[in-house]
Amino acid sequence: MSYPIEGQCQCGQVTYQLKAAPQMVAACHCTECQKLATAPFSVTALVKAEDIEFSGEMGEWSRPADSGNTNAAKFCTSCGNRVYHFNPQDAAMIKLKLKPVGLEDDTMFAPTAHLWVKEKVSWYTIPDGVKVFEEQP
Ligand SMILES: [Zn+2]
Ligand SMILES: [Zn+2]
Repeated sequence: MSYPIEGQCQCGQVTYQLKAAPQMVAACHCTECQKLATAPFSVTALVKAEDIEFSGEMGEWSRPADSGNTNAAKFCTSCGNRVYHFNPQDAAMIKLKLKPVGLEDDTMFAPTAHLWVKEKVSWYTIPDGVKVFEEQP
């Protein structure tokens, strides 16, 4: 895989260039992510803030996390697509909502860890060979 990788929101108003491989890719099965993703789980890449550049206009929303931190989110002001999450107290790492386009090899973005499995929908089976956590590791 060669970098940078480009991604964009659903409408293309917000774009990003990811300049290095994510630290980790995780699937989160918590009910908040189910609502966010309108899917059984979200897929998030843990990325160093210095490894990614965004362009386009983003709005911000936040909610308190179970840990007591703030979960802040950036989204496209045009299509509303969620772009990334971050902790305002620790902005060195961001949680990118992966939307890469046209990758020849997408396997590097396959989740290697599954989080909040206690809230997982009954009909999804976790693949073999991944790390499984009942809650936030
Ligand atoms: Zn958009
Ligand atoms: Zn979640």
